[in-house]
Amino acid sequence: METYRDLPQSTYSLQTTESVRTGTWRTFRPIIDTKKCTRCYTCWKFCPDVSIEVREEGEYPRVDYDHCKGCGICANECPTGAIEMVREDSIC
Ligand code: SF4
Ligand code: SF4
Repeated sequence: METYRDLPQSTYSLQTTESVRTGTWRTFRPIIDTKKCTRCYTCWKFCPDVSIEVREEGEYPRVDYDHCKGCGICANECPTGAIEMVREDSIC
């Protein structure tokens, strides 16, 4: 199985923009279903806002909702369909 290590090199920021909480204007929220997640970390690799956190290899990825802008790239790239984009106004 292809993993994030097999993906091509890409340019990305090493840090989130701490002073700009882009999560406040997000319309859709990515929610990871750990039953479907294979911990391939493709979502981590593709997130343009460094809003997917993996602190230790082997753990499930977590979304930094303070900075995730809800673009949906992670959900689009997830090979197992483990990330669902849910409207913020549908979440209690
Ligand atoms: S959510 Fe999808 S892309 Fe992210 S680690 Fe899990 S399976 Fe891979
Ligand atoms: S929705 Fe966009 S910003 Fe949020 S975690 Fe996914 S790729 Fe990153």
